[in-house]
Amino acid sequence: MYREGKPEGFFYLEHRTVDSKCNIVTDVHVTPGNVNDVEPYIERLDRQIKRFGFDVKYVGLDAGYLTNLICKQIIQRNLQGVIGFRLGPHEKNKYTKYKFQYVKEWDVYVCPNMFFLRYRTTDKNGYKSYSSVPKDCANCSHKELCLIGKNNNRTIRRHVWEEFKENVVRFTRSDKGKTIYKRRKETVERSFADAKELHGLRYCRMRGKAKVSEQCLLTAAVQNMKKIAMVLFSHGFQYFMKIGSIYCQLYRIQLAINKLSIKITITQIGNSGLCQ
Ligand code: SF4
Repeated sequence: MYREGKPEGFFYLEHRTVDSKCNIVTDVHVTPGNVNDVEPYIERLDRQIKRFGFDVKYVGLDAGYLTNLICKQIIQRNLQGVIGFRLGPHEKNKYTKYKFQYVKEWDVYVCPNMFFLRYRTTDKNGYKSYSSVPKDCANCSHKELCLIGKNNNRTIRRHVWEEFKENVVRFTRSDKGKTIYKRRKETVERSFADAKELHGLRYCRMRGKAKVSEQCLLTAAVQNMKKIAMVLFSHGFQYFMKIGSIYCQLYRIQLAINKLSIKITITQIGNSGLCQ
């Protein structure tokens, strides 16, 4: 495995899915450490929906999954993606492409100085290029921050599926999106942390994908058993609490009836006293 911010070496990756309500592990998939997170994702998502019949509405993922292809595949399944955002590779202290506004109707970008960057070409990877006119940039007050290297104009690249990604980013920044993303941290990250800290999943006990899968599946099964027991207990507890509260209410009613009957009795006694 060779990843920024991670140790280099021989690793396996566990691709794990949990549900957002109870944090039950719903899928475990092991790959060698050099497989990108994105690669098995859609296949694993489809497998869970098909196998368990889940009625999925939202999927929460970290920033590593924010690709045009993943966003497109999620939206095509009528799901809403909530995916973390981080700036990709960019020139330090220079305007990123997010300083430029895309206008869909005209298929142009508008730069911070309100000039158009017009479409030029599309490469074989599906990236469309939009460039400004050098004449516009020559006297621009933003050019120190905008132009890169010795270029006399600015070029922005946009993937043909970029609008799917924009949809996901827009939703993730909404209040609902922020709530779901926060829940992702409370569930799947906690699940991984517990697996490593409490169940010894930081290291493989044996080598080979099949044996590591076995370890990961058993770990997830144990975590699920604990979680299910806790959920059942809390439901049982709530059940007893309900019974208890009904009993308390019945007791209060009984007390009230007793008081009433005492009053009635007293009144009756009084009345009968008056009669007498
Ligand atoms: S340098 Fe060119 S592209 Fe950049 S803001 Fe100025 S006019 Fe627009």
